Amino acid sequence: MSESTDTQTYLPPALRPALAKLGIQHLRDVALHLPMRYEDQTRVVPIGELLVGESVVVEGVVDHSETLQRPRRQFVALLRSSTDDGVNHLSPRLSLRYFNFYPSTVSALKPGNTVRVYGEIREGYYGLEMVHPIFKKANEPQAPSNKALTPVYPSSAGVPQAALRTLATKALKLRDVTAELVPPSILQAQRLTAWDTALGVLHSPAATESAIALEGRTHPAWRRVKFDELLAQQLSLRDAKLLRAAETAPTIAPTGSLSTLLLQRLPFKLTAAQNRAVAETLSDMNRGAPMTRLLQGDVGSGKTIVAALAALAAVEAGYQVAFMAPTELLAAQHFNKLSHWLHDLPVTLTWLTGSLTAAEQKAAHASCAKGETHIAIGTHALFQKKVSFARLGLVVVDEQHRFGVEQRLQLRQRGTSPPPPRGEGLGERELALQTNSDQGGTPSPQPSPPGGGSQSLAPHTLMMSATPIPRSLAMSYYADLDVSVIDELPGGRQPITTKLVSENRRTEIARRIYEIAQTGAQAYWVCPLIEESDKMEIELQNATALYTDLVTMMPNVRVALLHGRMKAEEKADIMANFIANRVQVLVSTTVIEVGVDVPNASWMVIEHAERFGLAQLHQLRGRIGRGAAASTCILLFADKLSDTAKQRLKVIYENIDGFVIAREDLRIRGPGELLGPRQSGLPSLRYANIEEDIDLVEAVRDLAPKLEHDPSFNKLAFLNRWIKNRVEFAKA
Ligand code: ADP
Ligand code: MG
Repeated sequence: MSESTDTQTYLPPALRPALAKLGIQHLRDVALHLPMRYEDQTRVVPIGELLVGESVVVEGVVDHSETLQRPRRQFVALLRSSTDDGVNHLSPRLSLRYFNFYPSTVSALKPGNTVRVYGEIREGYYGLEMVHPIFKKANEPQAPSNKALTPVYPSSAGVPQAALRTLATKALKLRDVTAELVPPSILQAQRLTAWDTALGVLHSPAATESAIALEGRTHPAWRRVKFDELLAQQLSLRDAKLLRAAETAPTIAPTGSLSTLLLQRLPFKLTAAQNRAVAETLSDMNRGAPMTRLLQGDVGSGKTIVAALAALAAVEAGYQVAFMAPTELLAAQHFNKLSHWLHDLPVTLTWLTGSLTAAEQKAAHASCAKGETHIAIGTHALFQKKVSFARLGLVVVDEQHRFGVEQRLQLRQRGTSPPPPRGEGLGERELALQTNSDQGGTPSPQPSPPGGGSQSLAPHTLMMSATPIPRSLAMSYYADLDVSVIDELPGGRQPITTKLVSENRRTEIARRIYEIAQTGAQAYWVCPLIEESDKMEIELQNATALYTDLVTMMPNVRVALLHGRMKAEEKADIMANFIANRVQVLVSTTVIEVGVDVPNASWMVIEHAERFGLAQLHQLRGRIGRGAAASTCILLFADKLSDTAKQRLKVIYENIDGFVIAREDLRIRGPGELLGPRQSGLPSLRYANIEEDIDLVEAVRDLAPKLEHDPSFNKLAFLNRWIKNRVEFAKA
């Protein structure tokens, strides 16, 4: 059905660009563009009870009116309450201000006239006012639309509310828009409002509807919309999972030859939780369908070794591994750690980041493409189209929440082929596979590699995250992933003491750090860095100034400065010095936020802790408490704290458990920010709130699998109603 040419479903051409910005491409989209609030034009608000910001109907007598020339030509009328005789000049008045006006305006608003106006109340220079209110003579019969609450739609400049109202009325006349798609048995069991009723109520509620329930989104009509939205999300996530399960992945049958050696040389034994995560991962990789596993563990729980063991399993089975981190610093650390763990073992590691010289990159690319590289470690440079792997078996993504869906998609689209039979030279068959992204993102099977003759294989994916997923998120946004949780920290760790200290006491703190540094302990001193270029300059200056101060204050102690603008080599150098305890105090911007691991560092000072998000503070603090010494984290805060900043600092001060912190974070900020880039490719929720609507989240999770097999349920129509670009999403 080509709706755009059907006159019934036509969007006014002049409005189309602006509508597109609201996500409205077709008339039917207007039906799900739901009002954010409602205005009651049926109730007349007395002049003495007006509130700034409210759009209301006011009735009154024109007290005075005049045309002013300054500061701009305008017409102003003063309205007093009809019950007010106008003698008392201190009784409340409402100014009506028109910059465009006509003789009709002036005559309608003649002193003594009783009028009814509608508009938004603003705080004017001389008291409350309305700019360009709509007016009617009092007692004029009301237009029928005024019998109901008037919806106010989210809009941008260029789409008048009236146009959206008209379009909504038209959209609700389309049969496929109002068709009931949820089977009656479910409507009954869940006590859900009928679909057409729900849409009708939301777009044009009767005046008898509760404006509070409508605006607070607790009205049964909203409940129905949220149910459907969550159900669509759940179904599409299940689709994505099924689609992936239907793909073929390398069957990783590890020999244990490498991992046994690694385990023997580790200075520690894996925790039970780590062992469990390894077992889950290995069994997943051995099933022939691509693994999509999220490895969750609080900061410091030891996720890297789990990933390393998974990587070795792939290498043992003859496959290559791409091991990716969000920052160069973190990637370098992984590279160093793996080099250290695997030295002398027959495993070729390749370092690949954007800061390599062209020649170095070329060599790295060649090594990956030829299959010489066993484990490629790097940043998102690993995603580039020109990087191809001969036999990519596993993709490890550290701190996955830092990566966008698009980037993961790019890696997933990299097919691979089964390992060559024994004896065949590994480097001889270069199978530079094309990514699928030029094919419009349809989930067609991957093309067979030239000369390979066999079906291409999707790599397994192991994602790691220290941002714990609250239950509500796990059931909704992450429902398509398998999750392994490391819920235990390695033994022998000392607890971290967190202190909140006013920044006025910075000198005192510096003295304390100087003392501990002289005893061989190490400290991070973290400064916030705002990622806005002009502000960044200032922040950088602050960090530099602090560094200079500390250098003067701390003779015989090495202080170093680390920030994001430094060259990768420079950063790596400084980190190496810090790891070797040649530097005792590391002044740093948040480049150290994720993953940095220096067990001897047991102190941390965070400047302007009030500016950091909870997840960030938790991640930062997780850099200490990794060794045998007791650790202390000092949060310096500025005096005037906002309420949310206070809330955050309280949470981080009182809690050390990442799960609790993440829940609080979700409560304070909502899921959008917690999810980070992952959300960008997901069908984001416009109306449901996974925490508040947790009962619905649970209901749809249980219902989705049943509905999929219900012949009376048209899943495709249902998903089309809710989810745009569904195909691309399904592959992420
Ligand atoms: P994260 O989960 O935050 O990525 P890492 O993998 O960086 O944590 O591990 C933190 C530190 O703990 C590292 O120094 C690592 O070598 C060490 N570690 C990992 N597992 C254990 C264990 N079972 N026992 C003792 N130390 C461990
Ligand atoms: Mg880590």
